[in-house]
Amino acid sequence: MGTWAMGDAPAKRPQEIAALRYGLEHGLHVIDTAEMYGNGRSETLVGEAIAPFARDRVFLVSKVLPSHAAHDDVLKACRQSLARLGTDHLDLYLLHWRSSVPLAETVGAFEALMADGLIRSWGVSNFDVDDMEELAAVPGAQAANGVQANQILYALEYRGTEWDLLEADRAQGVVTMAYSPLGQAKRILTSPALKAIAAKHHTSLGPATPAQIALAWVLRQPGVLAIPKAGTVAHERENIAALEITLSAADLLALDRAFPPPLRKRPLACI
Ligand code: NDP
Repeated sequence: MGTWAMGDAPAKRPQEIAALRYGLEHGLHVIDTAEMYGNGRSETLVGEAIAPFARDRVFLVSKVLPSHAAHDDVLKACRQSLARLGTDHLDLYLLHWRSSVPLAETVGAFEALMADGLIRSWGVSNFDVDDMEELAAVPGAQAANGVQANQILYALEYRGTEWDLLEADRAQGVVTMAYSPLGQAKRILTSPALKAIAAKHHTSLGPATPAQIALAWVLRQPGVLAIPKAGTVAHERENIAALEITLSAADLLALDRAFPPPLRKRPLACI
């Protein structure tokens, strides 16, 4: 469950908390947030949402800003995130995007946080193949408790990573976390191709929706986790039901025509 912009509008707060709680009660575990989101407002909201749950029901992910990537700043930022989240540890802590701080320094800070039990694992976000290669050369990054995840933009209209990055992450044993898998509910969801495929599928909730097809498409990739943001229980329920959908070869072909896969290397797209 993504949480960007959650907590920004006070009027939406109760329904956003209800959506996250609904997800946790219906089989979802991962919640993604970041110190950047609303200057901590998202983390504070997530803290409130998860408070009634046993801590091990939630796999909590947060991210440190590149401007806090120096060793001591990472330690401080993490403690501040933990305070806002009302918890004593993160399950996964990510560098939000690359900074000018040497990777080895940030990795050293992640290792110190792991040694102190404040984070259980660490990873990165918005890293392209060359960034991942540079990271792999940092001592410790390839170890069993080294880099675990790369959170990147992956959605029907952003397929550039299919050229190389998805496979490179898989080969390294790194989980890809697909952010904005619904394309932020902009162009993708009005696509005639998506609507036509949705009309052919059903879930336990009834006829499938374009959003569910977009999610099923991302989730067809092995080793890829999708983190859609749903601000209402209705959207959360719909997104969970997307797990029931398996797209056929004909569906995938139709989607390839509407959203062509890359024919050459493209720089990593970011939002
Ligand atoms: P998404 O692609 O998840 O789209 C979110 C939008 O989709 C919201 O407007 C939401 O509306 C709508 N929506 C959700 N479910 C449905 C549905 N079933 N039917 C129709 N509309 C739906 O965009 P995000 O950018 O939020 O990406 C997801 C998460 O990824 C973020 O929240 C954040 O946690 C992470 N992220 C990470 C980045 C990084 O740099 N590492 C960058 C961007 C995002 P509503 O709110 O009304 O439910």
